[in-house]
Amino acid sequence: MTNPQKTGTLLTHISTDPQKYDGAVNIPLHRASTIVFNSYADFEGRPKPPFVYGRAGTPTSAAFEQAVAALEGAAGSVSTCSGLSAIVTAITAFAGSGDHVLIPDNAYGPNRKFCEKMLSHCGVEVEFYAPLTQDIGKQFRKNTKVLFIEAPGSLTFEVCDIGAFVTAAKAANITVIMDNSWASPLLFRPLDHGIDVSVMSCTKYISGHSDAMLGVVSATEAAYPKVKATALALGICAGSEELYIGLRGLRTLHIRLKEHQERGLEIARWLEKRPEVKRVLHPALASCPGHENWKKYFKGSCATFSFILHETDKKKFARMLDGFQLFHMGASWGGYESLCFPEQPASCRTATPWTEEGLLLRLHVGFEDIDDLKKDLEQGFKRLLS
Ligand SMILES: *Cc1c(COP(=O)(O)O)cnc(C)c1O
Repeated sequence: MTNPQKTGTLLTHISTDPQKYDGAVNIPLHRASTIVFNSYADFEGRPKPPFVYGRAGTPTSAAFEQAVAALEGAAGSVSTCSGLSAIVTAITAFAGSGDHVLIPDNAYGPNRKFCEKMLSHCGVEVEFYAPLTQDIGKQFRKNTKVLFIEAPGSLTFEVCDIGAFVTAAKAANITVIMDNSWASPLLFRPLDHGIDVSVMSCTKYISGHSDAMLGVVSATEAAYPKVKATALALGICAGSEELYIGLRGLRTLHIRLKEHQERGLEIARWLEKRPEVKRVLHPALASCPGHENWKKYFKGSCATFSFILHETDKKKFARMLDGFQLFHMGASWGGYESLCFPEQPASCRTATPWTEEGLLLRLHVGFEDIDDLKKDLEQGFKRLLS
């Protein structure tokens, strides 16, 4: 976050228009399917009216998309009903039958499943790559159309060499798509680094309160028309309430992320010193694979990371997890409340076997008192060893 003043001002005032709405600070929420035309000429699209049908866009979706596009430095953004639908829209916009796509081995699980089940069935060749490979170009084929990046990757948080990947892909005329849910454009702006398309799950830090499913795809001038046309063709759009929640979340994103960063680092460093903990997988810690890439490309970190225990006994693990008072067990992250999520990477990798035997726990550090959170973890370690 090198220029907080600028970002803060943008997040505070973008997509507001008090003069237009009788002085109200926030824009109204448009619940719209039908949008009526003023005239037959409008109906025929001369000039093309900005809104014609709810699924294709409303003033509410436009307000959210305009804000995200400004943050991403994108030509345009397309809102979707979830982070996963944003991924689906982005990949299918650029890959079809007979094409080859490269997906990182540490990709978000449901993205992996979409590629394995749906894309493969549609005749797309899906290949998983080692996220820390030094030479991604080696895996390019004549029919490679998409290089997908997720940095840091899900569960294990390796950060790939984004710059090297983009350089190689550009030379081979391959579209680069990045899942930027972890960093958000506040900590990394994919399009500034030559990436064509950035996708985000706004369910996480953008909405920030664990109460909405929302995704967004942002793209360069060249890539945007394909993305928008694909979302339209797939029937993908976001609900008006969720868009409003997303826009509302953006207002405080910079403040929340700053706090999440500090808290995440404090708990990660505290865990590093615990004898029960074998490794902490937090990209901002020097011991995390790909840390040097995080340092090179990212402006900061958030509060989502994993750690690996020495322990391998699931019964003891269950005792630890079941007794937590504050770290509730559940999917997702980015909300105001702390979460933990146990997952074993070995079961969802094919290109890079996961050999770590210790049990893995992903954490999201929320806004509870930090000493209470440490106490909760400490009690958990006691149960683990008892
Ligand atoms: C959660 C998540 C998604 C999917 O987002 P949903 O809004 O849950 O569909 C995509 N990518 C990453 C990295 C995620 O963590």
